[in-house]
This record gives sequence, structure tokens and C-alpha cells, in this order.
Amino acid sequence: MKEQSHKMKVAIDEHRSHLEKLKKFYEDLDREGVTIETMPQPQREQYQLEAINLTLQHVWDNNEFYRLSLQSAGFEEPVLDRLEQLSSVPLLNKSVIRGDKTKLLCVEPKQIGQVHLTSGTSGKPIYTSYTLADQYVYDLLPKYKELFPETSEDVAAIALPYEFALPGLGFQRLFQFAFGAAVLSLGKGGYMAPVDKSLELMKEFGATILVTTPSYAALLAEESESFGIKLGSDIRLRRIVLTGEGCSYTFRKRLEAWWGCEVSFFYGSTECGVVAVECKEHTGYHVAEGHVKLEIVDPSSGAVLGYGRTGEIVVTTLLREGMPMVRYRSGDIGYLQQSRCKCGTTMDILQLRGRMENMMRLGGEEYSPFLVEQFLLEVPDVGLWYHFIVEAEKLTIEVEAFRTKLSDRELADQVRKHMHDRMGLDCEVIVLPKLPRTFGKATRVIMK
Ligand SMILES: [Zn+2]
Repeated sequence: MKEQSHKMKVAIDEHRSHLEKLKKFYEDLDREGVTIETMPQPQREQYQLEAINLTLQHVWDNNEFYRLSLQSAGFEEPVLDRLEQLSSVPLLNKSVIRGDKTKLLCVEPKQIGQVHLTSGTSGKPIYTSYTLADQYVYDLLPKYKELFPETSEDVAAIALPYEFALPGLGFQRLFQFAFGAAVLSLGKGGYMAPVDKSLELMKEFGATILVTTPSYAALLAEESESFGIKLGSDIRLRRIVLTGEGCSYTFRKRLEAWWGCEVSFFYGSTECGVVAVECKEHTGYHVAEGHVKLEIVDPSSGAVLGYGRTGEIVVTTLLREGMPMVRYRSGDIGYLQQSRCKCGTTMDILQLRGRMENMMRLGGEEYSPFLVEQFLLEVPDVGLWYHFIVEAEKLTIEVEAFRTKLSDRELADQVRKHMHDRMGLDCEVIVLPKLPRTFGKATRVIMK
């Protein structure tokens, strides 16, 4: 029989890479009927150390940039004896790989199955290349039954970008191949599935899960009212998974009330894939420790910070062949906690504080936009669309009224007073009839 292409071999499981040993690790777990989530931490750390050593050897053998960078840090061979030694591996900055398609590539170009791009909103895009084995074999090895209770009974509506970004396609594969669910590839308001049609399809096919961004979940909810589709009866979701933008607990609570279902947070990126996921307890994100090793570093010195200390999130991917990310500075802020979670998952908990560039400096203090949003949305008369405008360390909030009897003046006064009482924050409040909606990433913070 004529061989069609090297890529077909992946499908018949003949593909071999540096990750074979880890494949065996997961096969053994599957056989025992357990997942990596509930494993005692020392055992999982042993796995992570092994995965990191395999990755370091792979990048050393196949990528000049990584090898030179390890050598410049004094490595004579790419081996760590202990997990803590990861801190001696150089950090990887976005600026080094922005706009560069091959710098981190560790396979022959013909082995690439898919290229993903970041949106490039803050500069040139970052290109991430995946082999087919990355997409269909390795990325699906770790299972997280606590974090994802979905099954083949579910119908997952995926309202995330499909063009070049990872999220749409990544969730599509996860739901189809890991859970056996049917998938509705809605995208975000594109030509084939505008908002009305997306809602109609969710209704017709009985969607049980919606994966989308916080702002698009809000947009779909408000548009459902103008199209006469009733959330909770015409569309009966079991769960919404939010990703892409991050939001506060009060924003979540509003969506839960509107859609009539549980809403969970998912944190990942186009460069690194899944990083951390909320469990049903909703007290933070469990780190997906099968896929990534997370560190928190001081953004200025690069020193690793311990549990409870806030800093920049640094990601090392554990199951990548095409383009592994080693100590990648995500530009996101957060801190780690040891898990004492009721869900039984022993994987560390990440508290996410948002993008570094969106941290707001007000009156000499740094504020996470999620925190300020948390308090703003406690006022039920305020809608889910708003802007935080920061100028000379002063905050102006633009809001929309939401199902209120208050006049604009009364609402502005109420918000001003509420923010002062709850946060000690003095701000200007402007009530506008309608703030712009977006199908892309919502811009909430505007620095002037
Ligand atoms: Zn938990």
C-alpha cells in the first residue's frame, strides 16, 4: 500500500518522540483508573522532573537557540537533578520570539501540522507550531476528570476564535477526542455563525456546554432577548467555561444568573495551551500539572517566588514536540497556593490577577482590573459593559445602566459612593447610553 504522508503515521500511533516514556506513564494511570489530579504531590513532581528533563534534552538536541541559551547559563548537559533547579534555566521573553516563526522550532518544518498565532494586539504575533502528535496524541494524554466532568452525552458549543488562534481548535479537539462530545463550532460572530444563528444552533442541537469569553457570553445573553430565545428553557446549559479575558467573581455571578447554569474559569494561552482550570469549588484555578510546570517570578529580578507571593506567571510545557515553551514569561500576574481543595485535586491552585500591562496604578497603589470590576458589578444597576480609564493615576469609569429605575445622575452618584465605601477609591463615573460591543477581545482598561 502506498504511504500517503508522514503525517498519517500519527493517526495509526506509529509516531515516536522523546515523549514515549510519558505516554507509558499515562497508559499506566489509565489502566489503574486514576488521573494525575489526585496523585500525591511528590509523585507528580517526579513526573514533572522527568518530563522537564526529556524536554530539555529534546530542545538541546534540536534547537540552537535553546541550546545556546542553556550553555550560556552554564549547562554542560541539559539535566536537572531536582525540580527547583529549573530556576537556573534562562527565562524566555516574548520579545525574543515575537514575529519569529522558527526560533523555537524543534522539528523539521514538514512535520508541522498546524501553526497558531497570537492576536498580536500588543505587537507582532507569536507563532506556535504543533505537530499532529502534539495536537492529537500528547496534548490529550493527561486527563482531568475533576476539572472536566464532560462526557459523550454533552453537546459543546465553542464560541471562540478558530482562525489561527489556539482556543477554538484546542477546545474542539478536547471535547471531541477526550470526552467524545458533539461539537458546535460557532466561532465568534463570523459569516457562517452570526450571533442569532449561533443561538439558534445551540437551541436546535441542545447544547449543554458553552465555551467562550466573558464578554461574548454577555453579548450572547443580551442578544438572546432580542431574538426571543429564552435562556434556561430554549437553551439549557449545564455549564459555561470562560477563557480568554478573565473576569471577576461578580461578573461570573451575573452570567450564572442570566444563563441559569454554573460558570467556570479556564486559563490558557495560544503559546502554552492549557495552564490552569477551575474545579467545581470555584476557589481558584488548579494548575494543569500534567501539561505544564508553573513558576511565579519577581517581574524585575526574575527570582522565583514561593507560595502566596504575587508575581509574573512563568510556564514550562511538558508535552510538546514541535515547539516546547521553556520558562516562558506569560505577562500575566498571579500567585500559587498549595491545594487543600474539597474536590480532592492535589494540584496547586493559581489565583490569577490579570495581565501585567492592565494593572492600574491609582493614587500610588496597583490595582488588578478584576478586583475593581468585582466591586463595580456589585451595583446591580450597572451593566456588564464598562471602561476603566486611567489618566495620571486617576480612575474614570464609563458604565451603562442595566434594568434600572435610577436616573443617570443617581446611578453615577451611587457607583461613586459604592467604590469609595468598598475600596476607598475616588473615581469619576460617566453613564453612557451604550458602550461599544465587540466580537474580539473586550478592551476594559484604557491607559491614557
Ligand atoms: Zn478543587
